[in-house]
Amino acid sequence: LRNLNISSNELFMELRQQGVEHLGQVRLGLLETDGELSLYFYEAKDTRPGLSVLPPEHRPEYDSPPSPGLYCCVSCGLPVQHQLHDVIACMRCGHRSWSPALQTTRNR
Ligand SMILES: [Zn+2]
Repeated sequence: LRNLNISSNELFMELRQQGVEHLGQVRLGLLETDGELSLYFYEAKDTRPGLSVLPPEHRPEYDSPPSPGLYCCVSCGLPVQHQLHDVIACMRCGHRSWSPALQTTRNR
């Protein structure tokens, strides 16, 4: 994302408009020269746990997870297993905010 001239807000809005709920549904995304986003999706059975692309009011964020489980770094999307009240810095980007990983599949 840092290499693109768009913010994650804009990217996530575009993803939502194309029916994406979380990043684990997307196998490959390409930003075309005309600015359009081309997306290739995983088959439902291959969907990965991924970071929600919903707006913040629909996407809880925690420094310290309220229950054990898989959470994604809200900065880079890396999924990491957390124990109760773990405070972990992302091993890929160093951020410390986490959102529960979603595993929902696409309906089309
Ligand atoms: Zn990260």
